[in-house]
Amino acid sequence: RAKAEGRATCRFFEPALDAQLQERRALEADLRRAVREGRFELHYQPLVRTAMGRVSGVEALLRWRRADGGLVPPADFVPLAEETGLIVPIGHWVLHEACAEVARWPSEVLGVAVNLSPAQFRRGDLVGSVRSALAASGLAPERLELEITESVLLEDDRATLGTLRELRALGVRIAMDDFGTGYSSLGYLQRFPFDKIKIDRSFVRGMAHDANCMAIVRAVVSLGATLGVTITAEGVETPEQLALLRDIGCDEAQGFLLGRPKPGSEVVEQHLPRAGGPCAREAAEIPA
Ligand code: C2E
Ligand code: MG
Ligand code: MG
Ligand code: MG
Repeated sequence: RAKAEGRATCRFFEPALDAQLQERRALEADLRRAVREGRFELHYQPLVRTAMGRVSGVEALLRWRRADGGLVPPADFVPLAEETGLIVPIGHWVLHEACAEVARWPSEVLGVAVNLSPAQFRRGDLVGSVRSALAASGLAPERLELEITESVLLEDDRATLGTLRELRALGVRIAMDDFGTGYSSLGYLQRFPFDKIKIDRSFVRGMAHDANCMAIVRAVVSLGATLGVTITAEGVETPEQLALLRDIGCDEAQGFLLGRPKPGSEVVEQHLPRAGGPCAREAAEIPA
């Protein structure tokens, strides 16, 4: 018995595994320090109305600024932040920072979208965080949009739906992110009245050369029209994709073609009219 356990322990500490474990521990320690020291930044990517080419809002995207100046993308630390629960304080900061920054911009209408993790629904006080972020910033609730993926709804359905309704009651909008990548996207649409559906960029990517992708995007757009839900296409990279989306009546587009995620000051400079300037009422046009 002891011998078997000994062998199991040996296997557990295989060098490769051990190295992985240590790397994870180091990353977790770094992440904890980053939370304590406030080493996070938000970049903002424009959301553009396809019909008029106007910027209607931005999506706040989280980055971690390392001590050496390097910028770590969310894919490299959000999963660990979710596992460890650190996403709760980080997510609280994201909500407060995004609302505060956008409330300072010279626009009374521009919206901001914030991504939420499943862990924020399970732990902490998400509704309280949203309420305090709105109160502290003075941002009108209808200018805040919360993006969730299907993974949020996979968990404790009843509790999650209850939280979503509470959030909706605050006046904020709820968007389904990465639509079509999970296995029950349509089921969730039936259970909760989303304000927006964001078509995953895997479908948008294939649109111009793959008839199936095109058919799916078309179907989602017409579903949106029927349900009265705004449809946003993610990952728009080419003028051809944008033209197709405009033709089929997709409401909104987001992607590198229309603007990469960048610091708030640059978004204001490039996409917002100067306050009091000659075209203060006109939102910026899509770059030609
Ligand atoms: P997402 O919410 O689907 O955000 C869109 C991602 O697609 C962003 O990556 C954005 O930079 C990228 N993207 C936008 N346009 C294009 C395009 O034209 N082509 C390509 N190839 N990519 C494009 P990013 O910033 O690395 O974020 C990745 C994911 O991390 C997000 O996906 C979201 O799920 C998560 N995330 C970001 N910020 C937060 C946050 O504050 N909290 C939580 N919980 N998750 C976040
Ligand atoms: Mg998103
Ligand atoms: Mg997305
Ligand atoms: Mg995504």
